[in-house]
Amino acid sequence: MTIHEHDVVVVGAGGAGLRAAIAAQEAGADTAIVTKLHPVRSHTGAAEGGINAALREGDSWEDHAYDTMKGSDYLGDAPAIETLCKDSPKETIQLENWGMPFSRDDDGRVSQRPFGGLSFPRTTYAGAETGHHMLHTMYEQLVKRGVRVYDEWYVTNLAVTDEEDPDDRSVHGVVAYDIRSGELHGFQANDGVVIATGGLGQVYDHTTNAVANTGDGVAMAYRAGVPIEDMEFIQFHPTTLPSTGVLITEGVRGEGGILYNSEGERFMFERGYANNAGELASRDVVSRAELTEVNEGRGIEDEYVHLDMRHLGEERITDRLENIIHLAEDFEGVNPLEEPMPVKPGQHYAMGGIETDENGETAVSGLYAAGEAACASVHGGNRLGGNALPELMVFGARAGRHAAGGDMEAAKIETGRTDEAEAGEVDSPVPLGEVGIEGGVAADGGATTATTPSEVVEATLEAERARIEELLEKEDGVHHAKIREEVQQTMTDHVNVFREEGGLKQALADIREAREHYQDVTVEDPSRTYNTDLIQTIETRNVLDLAEAITVGALARDEFRGAHWRKEHQERDDENWLKHTMLSWNDGDPELWFKPVVLEGESKTYEPKIRSY
Ligand SMILES: Cc1cc2nc3c(=O)[nH]c(=O)nc-3n(C[C@H](O)[C@H](O)[C@H](O)COP(=O)(O)OP(=O)(O)OC[C@H]3O[C@@H](n4cnc5c(N)ncnc54)[C@H](O)[C@@H]3O)c2cc1C
Repeated sequence: MTIHEHDVVVVGAGGAGLRAAIAAQEAGADTAIVTKLHPVRSHTGAAEGGINAALREGDSWEDHAYDTMKGSDYLGDAPAIETLCKDSPKETIQLENWGMPFSRDDDGRVSQRPFGGLSFPRTTYAGAETGHHMLHTMYEQLVKRGVRVYDEWYVTNLAVTDEEDPDDRSVHGVVAYDIRSGELHGFQANDGVVIATGGLGQVYDHTTNAVANTGDGVAMAYRAGVPIEDMEFIQFHPTTLPSTGVLITEGVRGEGGILYNSEGERFMFERGYANNAGELASRDVVSRAELTEVNEGRGIEDEYVHLDMRHLGEERITDRLENIIHLAEDFEGVNPLEEPMPVKPGQHYAMGGIETDENGETAVSGLYAAGEAACASVHGGNRLGGNALPELMVFGARAGRHAAGGDMEAAKIETGRTDEAEAGEVDSPVPLGEVGIEGGVAADGGATTATTPSEVVEATLEAERARIEELLEKEDGVHHAKIREEVQQTMTDHVNVFREEGGLKQALADIREAREHYQDVTVEDPSRTYNTDLIQTIETRNVLDLAEAITVGALARDEFRGAHWRKEHQERDDENWLKHTMLSWNDGDPELWFKPVVLEGESKTYEPKIRSY
């Protein structure tokens, strides 16, 4: 039994994980990153458009906070939003000081461009490859500081104690599978574990996310008893290439790109979807507008609309958006210098995730989360483009520093079940949660009654070893690809941009069936090394749990807010729904509850207003 010991263990090496590890190491902790991908292959590298930061005269963190709260449709928590907007300039300047090659204006200043839902052009960028440069810049800093990286190690579970009340539990490490050797090792974390495992796009079949984005960290934390928050809020990006889901950055519209329907109308204005902001309305508004055009017969090939940037001219496009020329040519066979690009909405971002406070801390002692896996609640019902990259810097740094025992101001956001928690109910047509809790191939969190840190890690390692052996030994059964396809199909059909009660119930029934199939899941590849079949089988379990969580939230929330549109409920209902949807896994049984949104900021309360663009 091999156990590695560090002060802080960070799971994931995208922007959030790298930033957390740098901060933890700087705070004096012996820090390690455990990651299934090499750091620079993490999905942050796909980020194109930029980082929102109030850097210039005429702009302010207060304006950024106002835009973000409005963009969230008043479901963001003010302390988290204000923290984001105050810390983002500092983090962005630090990236610049670390050598990030930002695009620059003629006067030498870092360039900023307009982005959807912003009242000021505050999106800082490095061409249309911002995330790629961000990852490389931070990876250099990581190497310089000597942080240990275990890359191509797949974390299968968290080592968490098993007290009855999840708020009393503590994390002591993780268990990870060495993809090269097929060995399973324990990682003991003496001070803290930071989850930075990124998005969950693989819950859907048309997504801008990589195949690695299976929401592992969110699902593991959920099963260990950590509440997950606002899972129904999924962002569908309005400009993805129809055949692959590859993203065409909002920067194209920021630079002046125009959307047209099949009748050649600039529909965002001509059909009245957003009379002021037009193409630069927030993403939920533009995605709904595009699908309405298609559904009303004004789409092209009944599927998409056109995004035209030819009028910007070759010089400007090559200077600021060169990557887009290659993406459109390589993935759609279209030269955007000569013809418009076909685009349609695709799953892009999870606004919800692991509940944290503004210091990245969760309800389980020693466990932190940051980046897309976390929900500090800065995005609420809809994320503004350019707000995820600053989020992962700001809260990655805080989570890392906090995990390492650094000094932090007391958080204003409370996590876990407080006195304000309100019980919830959902009218599901099928039982929810675990199918067979006894034995079986499902992993449950908080699996150990051991108490000392090393015993907790050892016991979790044993449990995970047994689970993996069982998976590898089963000879006949259902392949994970079939189960994943069933889930992705029903989520795409029923839990997409437009949602209605019957469809959501159908999705829950389909997910239940897929869960039952998972009891018979089989791994066809018997090898121990580079067994991606095994890893994808484990990931599919995570996809299942998160698909259910998204759908439960979507069915429970009977209002229309941000990205969550309900056919039967066409209004935002502030009287009843200024609250977060929370889900806790109680020994295999998902429990729904709510907690109020925090609208009180440092010096003002954000009063909900009509959200128009
Ligand atoms: C195409 C695209 C473009 C975008 N453009 C922008 C933009 O311009 N501006 C903006 O603000 N936002 C943008 N976003 C959103 C933003 O890029 C992401 O939300 C953010 O980069 C996520 O970073 P992360 O560190 O949380 O996760 P990731 O970068 O996805 O990293 C996750 C890490 O976790 C590891 N991991 C996952 N599971 C496990 C496991 N079980 N065991 C071990 N390791 C694991 C992976 O190896 C990886 O290292 C974009 C998103 C996409 C998809």
